Amino acid sequence: MASLISCPHCGVRPKEEFSIRGDANLVRPAPDAGADVWFDYVYLRDNPRGRHSEYWHHASGCRRWLIVERDTVTHAVHGVRDAALAKLGGESA
Ligand SMILES: [Zn+2]
Repeated sequence: MASLISCPHCGVRPKEEFSIRGDANLVRPAPDAGADVWFDYVYLRDNPRGRHSEYWHHASGCRRWLIVERDTVTHAVHGVRDAALAKLGGESA
């Protein structure tokens, strides 16, 4: 596991301050999508090898949601960005 995460708001912090909250690439289905689509969205996850984007919550810091691009093999962190700003298109990794 990456030992240090560079929060865009707090600076470099130990990983223990953060909680991993899952795949940042998932797209929420439409409300009227079928049960099979919702089942996949809620319960099924890929187990990617290599670079992967994940939601991390800086629970012991600024309490912001971040998107951390991490290599699942080496645990190297390639980028950290604020999830809300990234969603608005205002920030890149
Ligand atoms: Zn922070």
